[in-house]
Amino acid sequence: MKDIGHWINGKRVAGTSGRFSDVYNPATGEIQARVALASPEELDHAIAEAAKAQLGWGATNPQRRARVMMKFGELINQHMDELAELVSSEHGKTLPDAKGDVQRGLEVIEVCMGAPAMLKGEYTDSAGPGIDLYAMRQPLGVVAGITPFNFPAMIPLWKMGPALSAGNAMILKPSERCPSTSLMQAELAKEAGLPDGVLQVVNGDKQAVDGLLDSETIQAVGFVGSTPIAQYIYGRAASNGKRAQCFGGAKNHMIIMPDADLDKAADALVGAGFGAAGERCMAISVAVPVGAETANALIEKLVPRIEKLKVGPYTAGNDVDFGPVITKQAQERILGLIASGLDQGATAVVDGRGLKIQGYEDGFYVGPTLFDNVTPDMEIYKQEIFGPVLSTVRAETYEEALQLVIDNEYGNGTAIYTADGDTARDFASRVNVGMVGINFPIPVPLSYYSFGGWKKSAFGDLNQYGPDAFRFYTKTKTVTARWFSGIKDGAALNFKALD
Ligand code: NAD
Repeated sequence: MKDIGHWINGKRVAGTSGRFSDVYNPATGEIQARVALASPEELDHAIAEAAKAQLGWGATNPQRRARVMMKFGELINQHMDELAELVSSEHGKTLPDAKGDVQRGLEVIEVCMGAPAMLKGEYTDSAGPGIDLYAMRQPLGVVAGITPFNFPAMIPLWKMGPALSAGNAMILKPSERCPSTSLMQAELAKEAGLPDGVLQVVNGDKQAVDGLLDSETIQAVGFVGSTPIAQYIYGRAASNGKRAQCFGGAKNHMIIMPDADLDKAADALVGAGFGAAGERCMAISVAVPVGAETANALIEKLVPRIEKLKVGPYTAGNDVDFGPVITKQAQERILGLIASGLDQGATAVVDGRGLKIQGYEDGFYVGPTLFDNVTPDMEIYKQEIFGPVLSTVRAETYEEALQLVIDNEYGNGTAIYTADGDTARDFASRVNVGMVGINFPIPVPLSYYSFGGWKKSAFGDLNQYGPDAFRFYTKTKTVTARWFSGIKDGAALNFKALD
């Protein structure tokens, strides 16, 4: 059995706690490794070493730090295939999708190559007689990143890129289900010139997370994961005086107006609903067609598209549309939710239960499932399913559809498909959701914008990556400086009589 340890002070080290968590290959259902769960002593050591390393790194000029990002980006690109393979083997997503996972993280590193421009301060010349006023952006010190299983490459890069290029050291605590990608990223960061200790990858569970939240050295916590944990981490970090941004779960709706191009809307729903087996925080899990005619026509277009989807192991390469879900527990929970949908009166137009893949009978697969006639009181509507299940909630009018989105407790992403610019503008302006797509199903902002949801999809201030991340990972120091006049007269070189 392969053991996965930690990355401390520039090298892989074995865990010493004696506690481990199993790492599965979701495609086969086999345990492929076990990951060490850090003890409080191991965590404290990693933090103390990071604090020492941060002093030099924080004092390194921003352009030199940016050059490390440049080389890091180049290395990620060179090792794209290996990184994607690691992602797929522990997560189960297809290889093309895993490459997308790496790519969307790499794009954040590309923006970090320009970090010096983001770190510029402010300056007011002659704010008073002989007085200049300036504000500096300084690193926070040692910060923590705590990341989920579903984007093992992208989200750690969203965390480490801005934090490190702003001069901080980081303790990264990846998901215990997909720990290997972060370790390889740390190796590449070292090869790119990152000093030892500046990035420590500490694997662990709740015990390590709580240690980070209670550590007096950790200045900020960037978390991504499910809503209950996001809320818990935000509360504990904030009450310990830390800066915290904690991104949570989602229930993303797509409104389909009667004037929408229904073929395009159906394609978008299939991609956004079932891609990565629905294990994306920006997945569309609710379709809201407006008007019975739109709903009937949409379902008719969705069914053949969904029935054509191929589910299987990532090793089948391009021959597969999506893979398994992450664990047996996740699989059972999703199957249970599908059953509850039927019990509560929804119509399963396509039922994904009972899928067996030859040769992969123990893999954690769930077939694509499409529900019609879903209502907001049903569990399949209320819960984030995080599986390949698309629910259709029919609305009579645009206002009713919009209100459904507004009333939902989550506010990560949403989309509208329409041919009418006025409706699209109204939707973008009134909806209370952080990321909005107009004829665009998964509106993850490009890396020079920032990513973040509203309502129960995010706790704390500022968004991830882009300009917000540089504000989050730096603190401002404002200096008021007065220089008295007269000194320069004293240095005059002309020959003059003494006073
Ligand atoms: P999770 O909340 O179970 O785990 C996330 C991290 O928290 C992991 O590192 C885990 O080890 C740690 N953790 C788990 N339980 C903990 C506890 N009790 N105390 C302290 N730490 C704990 O989430 P997940 O299942 O890995 O990821 C899926 C979730 O993440 C979904 O809800 C998805 O919507 C969400 N997500 C959100 C975003 C976003 O940007 N909003 C992006 C990706 C995923």
